[in-house]
Amino acid sequence: MAQDDKPAKPATRVVEAGRGPKWTGRVVNPPVWRASTHLYANEAERKAALKSNQDGEFFYGRRGAPTQWALAEALTEIEPGAHGTVIYPSGVSAIAGALLSVLKPGDVLLITDNAYDPSRAMATGLLKRLGVESRFFDPLDITAYEALFCDRTKAVWLESPGSLTMEVCDVPALAAIARDKSAVSLIDNTWASSLGFPALERGCDISVMSLSKHVGGHSDLMMGSASAGERYYRALRRTGQQLGNVVSPDDAALAARGLRTMKLRLDQSSSSALQIVEWLDAQPQVSAVMCPMLPGDLGHDLWRRDFTGGCGLFSFVLSSENPDAQAIVVDNLHHFGIGYSWGGFESLALPIFPGQYRDVMPWPPKNLAAIGVTGSSSAIRLSIGLEDPQDLIADLAQAFEKLDQT
Ligand SMILES: *Cc1c(COP(=O)(O)O)cnc(C)c1O
Repeated sequence: MAQDDKPAKPATRVVEAGRGPKWTGRVVNPPVWRASTHLYANEAERKAALKSNQDGEFFYGRRGAPTQWALAEALTEIEPGAHGTVIYPSGVSAIAGALLSVLKPGDVLLITDNAYDPSRAMATGLLKRLGVESRFFDPLDITAYEALFCDRTKAVWLESPGSLTMEVCDVPALAAIARDKSAVSLIDNTWASSLGFPALERGCDISVMSLSKHVGGHSDLMMGSASAGERYYRALRRTGQQLGNVVSPDDAALAARGLRTMKLRLDQSSSSALQIVEWLDAQPQVSAVMCPMLPGDLGHDLWRRDFTGGCGLFSFVLSSENPDAQAIVVDNLHHFGIGYSWGGFESLALPIFPGQYRDVMPWPPKNLAAIGVTGSSSAIRLSIGLEDPQDLIADLAQAFEKLDQT
């Protein structure tokens, strides 16, 4: 990290973060330390290690080794306001670790209705069984959200833009209300990452990311992280250790490698996505595009106010009423894989069914219903990778022609 008082810019930070000589010695990248047992020089050293519990202190493999510590430090350095980061074997395990670190039986969790489906399932499944009550809220209706708080509300789960339908909410306002009511605010910050949305600076207490997406960046790695200021980092760390979370050093090294190009990849895929979104928006086969980076999108003003970047993930709705429209389009794409996950170097297309994952938000929302979107309209999510955007546009155009011919 730069030692002068001017903080380095994000592109510089991702290159330098977590690469101090205590992790790397004389080489550029932190080496892969494969270790379960750590050996002590003597009994006094073993006793000292038992007591202190910090990254950088050898103890036993479950507490990590330099490869994982270097990655955690790097993630902390790129998350403004973070005191520390805990890494987990997947994004979903990070979500579980973060929620379990702040909730106990009898508590109420407020969870955004457009949260990633496994987050919703955790609230209605695991957390419910543990005696935590979850209430879904519409993140665009701040008054109704505020009215949901009660004495037992201990945490708020945010995600912006929301999964599949990409609504941007007023995170600073929602987090400020949570703080006022003494509830912890947590956010799934996978879409923008800490580079595009400095979640802790925007008022959140804990920022969670699936590293399987932008940080890994190459579709060959599962991992997650949770970063927090001093107040919540301790609880995150304690809970993570009690759950036995640990990631392999090989995967940690891959994640750290992905991090070095993350800013470049995000910039490129955002700019390609914007070109594609603008093209899609003008096609007769498309009735609506859901992407906050697009001027005119419902979330565009908040995105411009609060975010410093975007990414290549967005959704759109087809105007065709053919029930096979999604399949016809994705099956005829040559440059897009059909698959889950996103944020890799390669483009993906996925049919989506937003109405299936909603309790309180209407699908379609009023603004889309007004332009003809219905509950049975066909929607597709695209993750734009690093291919030439002109090739991707041509690919979409020929798939739309196939749809017209059916
Ligand atoms: C993929 C994803 C996750 C979960 O991450 P995994 O690493 O796949 O477990 C969490 N949140 C969002 C928004 C995601 O898209």
